Amino acid sequence: MTASLVATEPQGVVSAADIEKRPLERYVAPERPSLVGLSRAALAEAFGAIGVPERQRRMRVQQIWHWLYVRGAKDFEAMTSLSKELRAALAQRFTLARPEIAAEQVSADGTRKWLLRLPGEIEGRPHEVECVYIPETDRGTLCISSQVGCTLNCSFCHTGTQRLVRNLTPGEIVGQVVLARDRLGDWTEASPPASDGNEEARKRLISNVVMMGMGEPLYNFEAVRDGLNVVADGEGLSLSKRRITLSTSGVVPKIARAGTEIGVMLAVSLHAVTDALRNELVPLNRKYPLRELLEACRNYPGLSNARRVTFEYVMLKGVNDSLADARALVRLIKGIPAKINLIPFNPWPGSHYECSDWAQIEKFSEVVFNAGYASPVRTPRGRDILAACGQLKSATEKLSARERLALRAMAMTD
Ligand code: SAH
Ligand code: SF4
Repeated sequence: MTASLVATEPQGVVSAADIEKRPLERYVAPERPSLVGLSRAALAEAFGAIGVPERQRRMRVQQIWHWLYVRGAKDFEAMTSLSKELRAALAQRFTLARPEIAAEQVSADGTRKWLLRLPGEIEGRPHEVECVYIPETDRGTLCISSQVGCTLNCSFCHTGTQRLVRNLTPGEIVGQVVLARDRLGDWTEASPPASDGNEEARKRLISNVVMMGMGEPLYNFEAVRDGLNVVADGEGLSLSKRRITLSTSGVVPKIARAGTEIGVMLAVSLHAVTDALRNELVPLNRKYPLRELLEACRNYPGLSNARRVTFEYVMLKGVNDSLADARALVRLIKGIPAKINLIPFNPWPGSHYECSDWAQIEKFSEVVFNAGYASPVRTPRGRDILAACGQLKSATEKLSARERLALRAMAMTD
């Protein structure tokens, strides 16, 4: 077993508060709520609220769905297939507001990070989450958040240090995708230009969505489910479920439900190969230990060699990065269709850890690779310069390391 850098409390003395906080219940919706991000059912209700008879609602929902999620309409006036009266009635009661951008950072390689302000305040500070867009040659990945803060307290994670938490609404979850499409100009034009033979140019900039920003998505299950189902809707935003990945720290009882009710790809934050160390890094492990977690992964609905679980493993110097750890890791996940995502630790002020040395990450990844596991280092590429997990920081000095890692990862994967 590897040594740890942080002192742990004596084994067996575990207070529930160490493992998880309670999210705030109070969420004050704006006076005129936004329709952006709502499901078909919620939109039908909105039409009901302005007096649209029930028999017409289905058709109206169909129309507005197209405006919201195919065309990205920003005002009701643009929705020309709805009557003037209906547009006016909608505008009186609702808005098409997106999450508000508090800050935007664009990195040299085109990666963008938004700090988003949502309705509400926690201890005098506005509710804020982060959302990151990472362009790559073969894809464009949007990393979105599920909570303001996080209910859990992983010892290496900055988000976990936030004391108070509020769940995002389904609209705020979808709103991140809508807003990113706005900023990237990634909507379908009303009448697309005649084919110029350049199909590449018409490809979506956002081809993948990962729920790896702030928060534990399976502790905000219903909103995440409803939001991701809107994101995946084939008549709207149309992200295939195979291109949406949900990352969990290991909320075992919700993993099977995530498979059946959401059906997206699963990523699990493993980070350690023994319960003793994982208890310390991911305190939720005390509630749902490794054996149960791996069993849930093994049984994840729809798993196959073409649909693998991703195991995330943050590289912490002298903590979990020995080659014995690497060998134990491949033994532990034996038989589970999986890939392993090695994440260089992203330090934050006050954190007790250091990122593993580059040479060590390479040796570790070689053991994993030789055992037959692809170890793409995709999300951490964005994370590495952007720190989607609660840190506003531009680590340009890491760019070359990041690029080397990316090249290596590409060579190792499909
Ligand atoms: N709460 C979920 C999803 C959000 S965190 C989860 O824990 O899986 C997304 C990933 O970033 C997780 O694997 C998490 O462990 C990792 N992470 C958090 N803080 C990090 C840091 N400082 N450096 C590198 N990875 C980090
Ligand atoms: Fe929450 Fe994930 Fe950070 Fe852990 S790693 S505190 S679960 S956001």
